Amino acid sequence: MDMDKELFRKFGYKFIDWVTDYLSGLDNFPVRSQVKPGEIRSQLPPEPPGQGESMEKIFQDFKDTIIPGITHWQHPSWFAYFPANNSPPSILAELLTAGIGAQCMIWQTSPAAAELEEVVLEWLRQMLGLPEGMTGVIQDTASTATLVALLTAREKATDFNANQKGLKSPLVVYASEETHSSVEKGVKIAGFGRENLRYIPTDDSFAMIPSKLDEAVEKDKKKGLQPACVVATLGTTSSTAVDPLAPIGEICRRHGLWLHVDAAYAGTAAVLPEKRWILEGAENVDSFVFNPHKWMLTNFDCSAYFVKDPGALIRTFEIHPEYLKTGLDSQVKNYRDWGIQLGRRFRALKLWFVIRSYGVEGLQKIVREHIRFAQMFKEWVEKHEAFELMAPVDFSLVCFRLNDGRNDEVLNDLNKRLLESLNQTGKVFLTHTTLRGKYVIRIAIASRTTQERHVREAWDLITSKAAEILK
Ligand code: PLP
Repeated sequence: MDMDKELFRKFGYKFIDWVTDYLSGLDNFPVRSQVKPGEIRSQLPPEPPGQGESMEKIFQDFKDTIIPGITHWQHPSWFAYFPANNSPPSILAELLTAGIGAQCMIWQTSPAAAELEEVVLEWLRQMLGLPEGMTGVIQDTASTATLVALLTAREKATDFNANQKGLKSPLVVYASEETHSSVEKGVKIAGFGRENLRYIPTDDSFAMIPSKLDEAVEKDKKKGLQPACVVATLGTTSSTAVDPLAPIGEICRRHGLWLHVDAAYAGTAAVLPEKRWILEGAENVDSFVFNPHKWMLTNFDCSAYFVKDPGALIRTFEIHPEYLKTGLDSQVKNYRDWGIQLGRRFRALKLWFVIRSYGVEGLQKIVREHIRFAQMFKEWVEKHEAFELMAPVDFSLVCFRLNDGRNDEVLNDLNKRLLESLNQTGKVFLTHTTLRGKYVIRIAIASRTTQERHVREAWDLITSKAAEILK
């Protein structure tokens, strides 16, 4: 039986109360869930209920069974991976989105969704200072956006023949050795073939070396292969390195290659005038993605994808089945043709709420504060004789390791133990990477709820655990 309207209202209020208390009381939870594999599953009935159950009971089970198995991404001591920030306006917008329940595949299935998306993406373009004329569309994730870019690059390189006839000869894709794994995944599934992805060496700051890119492209051309696309990263996952767009763009232009930019995390930093340098050379970029669902306080998922030539994008993805035709197709944007899936969530609403609620200045203030915390942390690392800074700190990620002078093999093990001992406390959650084969601890300081005291507490915990391990 359908839920009674007044009961729905009652639980609606109750859940908002719960979320409000949850967000303000996150300090009381261990950041990383402490459960063992299978522990949650073993508490769940293996078969679905035959009869409907009361919301009271379902809610109670949510609190008792599900919450212990949640890793708290909105925790102020969340320092792992990159964040996936939400925020009060974004949560409220998601509630409205769920309530409306619109499926926004084409303009007529919700004109406001299509037109708001157009406007909000243009706001974002201005906020980041991306070149005028770039057009935005929301994708679910950066991985999808990069796949979309690779597919469009493939079509452009084959004069839109690969979609029709399949790939006749190999096309080559280039990215730095520090690129995100989504590039490899995209190359595999877009039909380029894993063998046709070239990893370009990086310099001491882990950024792509443009001359090495040029050499690789020349070498492939000499072999009779067809270079097609370069993926540059602004803010690599391991260390937030910035590939230099200006020289890379010049190489792409000279060789006629598609230039896609993955700025999933660090793109948000371009809201700050002092970080706009990362976009130097953006006029030669064909496509660009960044994730408001990381650092711009918009609930997962929401990835902003910008293209210079929407025509190429649409030509790659458009389909015209009779049942989707409307009399208005020449006058409106039908976003079903701007990406992979047909059905689309109304994601623009939460972005609209976030940007209006914080304002550009409010967002700048938060991002700037995170960068200040990271600089503070970096200085502590540099001043401490047992720690070593492992990469430049341009944004809000610091890569460091414990180093008491022993060899890398011993240090790798030591740092692994240090990280696990930190995470086991439940007081913080940090993750690791390797840089040039060295095990490195990453602290990403970019949660909306993080205050200076949380960063100080994390450092105190790190130094005390390190002292225990060195003893
Ligand atoms: N690109 C970079 C540089 C990333 O750091 C990440 C994730 O952290 C991604 C892509 C993948 O993002 P998504 O989860 O939106 O696909």
